[in-house]
Amino acid sequence: MKKLKKIPEIGTEMYDMMVKLYPICRSITGDGVRKTLDIISEQIPLEKHEILTGTEVFDWTIPKEWNIKDAYVKKSNGEKIIDFQKSNLHVLNYSVPVHNTVSLSELKDHLFTLPDQPALIPYRTSYYHENWGFCITHKQFLQLEEDEYEVVVDSTLEDGSLSYGEYFIKGESEDEVLLSCYTCHPSMCNDNLSGIVLLTFLAKHLKNLSLKYSYRFLFIPETIGSIAWICKNEHNVAKIKHGLVASCVGDSGISTYKKSRQGNAEIDQTVIDVLKNSGDDYKIMDYEPYGSDERQFCSPGFNLPVGSLVRTYPFHFTEYHTSADNTEFVKAEYLADSFSKYFKVILKLEENFGKFYSKNNEEELPEIDSKNDQVFLNLNPKCEPKLDKTGMYGKIGAIPCEGKKGNDSLAILWILNFSDGKHSLRHISLRSGIDFKQVKQAAKLLHEKKLLKRIL
Ligand SMILES: [Zn+2]
Repeated sequence: MKKLKKIPEIGTEMYDMMVKLYPICRSITGDGVRKTLDIISEQIPLEKHEILTGTEVFDWTIPKEWNIKDAYVKKSNGEKIIDFQKSNLHVLNYSVPVHNTVSLSELKDHLFTLPDQPALIPYRTSYYHENWGFCITHKQFLQLEEDEYEVVVDSTLEDGSLSYGEYFIKGESEDEVLLSCYTCHPSMCNDNLSGIVLLTFLAKHLKNLSLKYSYRFLFIPETIGSIAWICKNEHNVAKIKHGLVASCVGDSGISTYKKSRQGNAEIDQTVIDVLKNSGDDYKIMDYEPYGSDERQFCSPGFNLPVGSLVRTYPFHFTEYHTSADNTEFVKAEYLADSFSKYFKVILKLEENFGKFYSKNNEEELPEIDSKNDQVFLNLNPKCEPKLDKTGMYGKIGAIPCEGKKGNDSLAILWILNFSDGKHSLRHISLRSGIDFKQVKQAAKLLHEKKLLKRIL
């Protein structure tokens, strides 16, 4: 009989904290995030920050604050058929308030489902385009009948602030290790309560040790949070010598490391060494400008050595952004295993402190054929520009694009991230695997929108 592996206590502690955080309806702003930060504060002395609505952060503006009390859809006979109290995924995240009676066809315009996974509720957002909506199983969608439906979203979207938490552990040196996770997803466990509990317990553990590096932990809403944090702390980002974005660290898949944009930084080599020595299977991925907050930390204006250590890569597990990413999907033993890998990375960084002579991380690029190639410069190199302002990005968020090569938004992200004056369109095409013609076409569009300047 196979011997059962004992789960380290820390795995159970992380799991219990995840279960406590699970019911909270979070978003990029609002009380759900504050409640989450309060629960983290029970473990570590978190510094809480609020940035007011309307504050400009690079190309972005802090949005209005969203809060929700209730939401439902009722049939004309009074039967509640969709109920926010049963799952907060039922509401399109950031839905504006509505109280109305609508026909079936009007209702259908505001429903989101997963036809390929008919038993699951999808997670969808509409942060920057005012809309209301509900997410339901496709099975339920197919059973809806002609009727007059009462729709209620009891939410507020008002001036307020964006909340985030930060915890700093001072080491001997001013050089910092950045560990970041996002706090904006409602009831989903792997993405990304797993990252929150991992970093909370890592911080709790590190604070008792004598450390050479200083450690900065960020608990921020994805994208807007990292952009806001970098903007507020721009004068200090040069202190960041290594960094990791923690997400999806609690599923049964093998560990996956997505390298930093630099590709050969000390953090890249350190994580790869730890995974090699772990005796477990693992996967290494090159950097791509699609994913989580590493997109902002690795934008060409900063190019920080920040990678992402996950288990199954987001978009690659079928439970991703659905109601199946629940407390059954994540297990204490996998959280414990991820904790041990993160901790080993830190021990190795500490061990190599001052010994690792920075190598030339410059990538060798093939010569540019200026007759058949073009070189552009991203005019917003600090974090990503807000693409929906130019009509180049979808209005409904959280739909996995799975890094599909034929996807125009992916080509746009690659061009913006690599138009640093050194990479030509052919280099970008080679590195991304996206057809040169498509890269050229997307660059033309970005040039017309004045997001790029042609230099060759
Ligand atoms: Zn997500």
